[in-house]
Amino acid sequence: TEFPRMPTAVVTGAASARGIGQATARRLAGDGWAVAILDLDGAAAASVAERIAAESGQPAIGIGADIAEPRQVDAAMRRIESELPQLVGLVNNAGISSPTPFLEVGPAEWRRVFDVNVHGTFHVTQAAARIMARNRLGRIVNVSSASAERGGGVYGRAAYSGSKAALLGMARTWARELGGFGITANSVAPGSIDTDIMGGPLTDDRKRVLLQELPVGRIGTVDDVANLIAFLLGAQAGYITGVTYDVNGGSHIA
Ligand code: NAD
Repeated sequence: TEFPRMPTAVVTGAASARGIGQATARRLAGDGWAVAILDLDGAAAASVAERIAAESGQPAIGIGADIAEPRQVDAAMRRIESELPQLVGLVNNAGISSPTPFLEVGPAEWRRVFDVNVHGTFHVTQAAARIMARNRLGRIVNVSSASAERGGGVYGRAAYSGSKAALLGMARTWARELGGFGITANSVAPGSIDTDIMGGPLTDDRKRVLLQELPVGRIGTVDDVANLIAFLLGAQAGYITGVTYDVNGGSHIA
């Protein structure tokens, strides 16, 4: 099916000030997308959307929702369908980390990580893919992590790494099952990106350690990831599906 002139993209977890999601939403608006931001923090989501709309001239809305709650996700999707143009893109970016060592992690922390990173992604994607399937056009990108490929150690440990590995399998399955509906599904696996996911900016000590294993010689930026996601969502990327793209400066070379 033909790409609409102004498609809509949903970006989850795009409210955080220095995060990958916000950079992606801004980049997509710059490329001509209408944008819907879904985030736990509804007030921040609304103000980010307002700023993106003012900068880009594109429609943008921010909605407060916990992606782990199917009813909140369904309500958000209904609003997106009624207020924005045809839904084409989905960026499953919302996620939480879990730095706790495996021998110490408790069941509540383990479950919350999977509830958000895996089950939340399931809820949002099923709701979005049903709309995309009706339209016979869709582009889905999961934000996984180098942690899934190399066994944690970047930001997260077993719960995080396991949940991010699940996203790789889910995207590959969507690529097979939904290809006939004109939907592509891919994953990106960022290495260390300077965001606040660990509760604040990277310390200089942490940066020095990371730089020792970075062939390109610098820490990754949110735009490094946003540029890749924007490409995979674009009209030109229709023959790319079921793939995992590393964006890690060479810190992990498979
Ligand atoms: P961030 O903490 O800045 O952003 C995450 C956003 O997700 C926040 O706005 C948060 O409110 C939102 N969120 C969390 N739980 C939610 C829920 N239940 N429902 C809705 N929204 C929720 O982190 P970031 O570094 O920008 O991370 C974005 C994604 O990139 C995450 O999935 C993360 O795992 C992944 N990632 C980050 C890095 C990195 O180095 N920063 C590396 C690899 C992968």
